[in-house]
Amino acid sequence: MTREWVAIGTVIMLLGSNLFGLVYSMLVLKTKFFDSFVIQEKPYQKSIFSKRMPLFLFNFILLLSVSGVGAYFLYDLMEISWTSWWIIALQVLFAFIIDDFWFYFYHKWLHENKFMLKHVHSIHHRATKPFPLEYLYVHPLEWMMGMIGVVVAFAVILIFMPINLYAFWIFGLLRNLHEIHIHSDIEMPFFSKIPLLSKTKHHDDHHAYLKGNYASTFVWMDRIFKTNFYK
Ligand SMILES: [Zn+2]
Ligand SMILES: [Zn+2]
Repeated sequence: MTREWVAIGTVIMLLGSNLFGLVYSMLVLKTKFFDSFVIQEKPYQKSIFSKRMPLFLFNFILLLSVSGVGAYFLYDLMEISWTSWWIIALQVLFAFIIDDFWFYFYHKWLHENKFMLKHVHSIHHRATKPFPLEYLYVHPLEWMMGMIGVVVAFAVILIFMPINLYAFWIFGLLRNLHEIHIHSDIEMPFFSKIPLLSKTKHHDDHHAYLKGNYASTFVWMDRIFKTNFYK
């Protein structure tokens, strides 16, 4: 696979997951399809999707550019073949743990620093009852800094071994889909049973009460630091 295809594949993966996010958002906003799984009963603001659209698009283009260009330049440091499943699984799990570790402290700081909360993070918290694509409704500075955990995780992997392309793609895809789902206000019975993985309710409560539940992917950080406020 050439360098160009690695970059194009990364962009296609993100286009696909966000197309899923778009369909999911439309089902949540415009239909009664998920009504029996809704967490908060209150209605959405009128025309909420079009109000969110400009920042969605801006952050989406930012995501595609950074990831596509990143993959293009990481090519030389990557292992392009599907070597062994356990190396791939280990890299994906490691990336999730480091990313979540960064996100927890970074997100907590966004709440504790009054300047950051008022001028940066408050944009994401305009959503008290989020819908899936609102994971993209974030101040661009917060959005970019949120990727530091991913960069650190793959930089640490590089110390020991090349980054596996498929681990990079699987991690990107799962992270994106999980972010979309925890902003859906929909609690699916199946996903709620995976141990230690954060449910939609975990992040939904964070949006509803503006405090606690700072981790994104897992729940253990909130348990260790006693910030797991809502059950
Ligand atoms: Zn927050
Ligand atoms: Zn959120």
